[in-house]
Amino acid sequence: MIRGLLSIYTNPQLYWIVFVYIVTKFVELLTGSYNFWSQFWLDFVDYFGNDEFFEVYVSFAYTTLLYWIVGLLFIAINITNKPKFLDKYKVQPNASLRSDSKKLLPVIGVVLFNQFVLNFLMFKIIAFYQMMPNGIHLRQTQSFPELLVTIVMYEFIYEFLFYYAHRLMHHKYFYNWIHKLHHKWTASISIVAIYAHPIEHIVCNTLPIVLSLFILRTSYATSGVIITMTTIWTLGDHSGYHIPFLHSSRFHDWHHSKFNECFGTNGFLDKFHGTSKKFEESGEILRHRTLFTLKSASELYPNENDNKMN
Ligand SMILES: [Zn+2]
Ligand SMILES: [Zn+2]
Repeated sequence: MIRGLLSIYTNPQLYWIVFVYIVTKFVELLTGSYNFWSQFWLDFVDYFGNDEFFEVYVSFAYTTLLYWIVGLLFIAINITNKPKFLDKYKVQPNASLRSDSKKLLPVIGVVLFNQFVLNFLMFKIIAFYQMMPNGIHLRQTQSFPELLVTIVMYEFIYEFLFYYAHRLMHHKYFYNWIHKLHHKWTASISIVAIYAHPIEHIVCNTLPIVLSLFILRTSYATSGVIITMTTIWTLGDHSGYHIPFLHSSRFHDWHHSKFNECFGTNGFLDKFHGTSKKFEESGEILRHRTLFTLKSASELYPNENDNKMN
């Protein structure tokens, strides 16, 4: 019952954070230490000595490396089709990267441009803003309850900003020259997450995250947690796999395969605007949940439309 309720909330990363917190508290009790993560953060920042260097170069290196490490891990699974037991977690079972491998090189080029030019500039601008009197101090930390509340509030603000920015990209004035690039992949792979026209990368990928964190006045440490969460989420969303204990990728995968539905991330604005009707009618909504067993969503919720969908 509880597991069923938890599974409906499709961002299990929040559960992972709670899990890490409980383990940390347990270890702190055993070792007599306290505030492990706050201390870790302060030591980590101090290690680099220079705040501006940290805010620009360390932040840039961390986000870029995280994207490629997680992204390439998924790509390795796509290319080798191994380990075999992951096959059953494919959202579109007939999709194959091998038939699309020629499309891979342009993806890498565009992603690197968006990271090394646009993301780098963004970190420069943020670091400049942080030097202002109302900027957020790098060493400021938040308590665990504050972190959880911030994450939940972030999800709603982010959904609001992302949904409408994404809908705008689907407007006939913008779709062909901006957003079509991202939609070249109807069965997407992880690193397609920021395979986007520079304007889309700023409006849809970057600004919703930066503005949400800005509105919430999130500390650097909490922003680090949220950006890690969002990066893994969006890479998973594009991976083509719906893996147990991770966020369900079915909603965004549906968007790539059907184009005109499921514009948001957690689905509540799509529900509000009626832009997830076919997704609901097809039965995919039943499968769009966090898996707490090793059974795949198709095994748990067999669907008579399976053959038509793929
Ligand atoms: Zn789209
Ligand atoms: Zn996408």
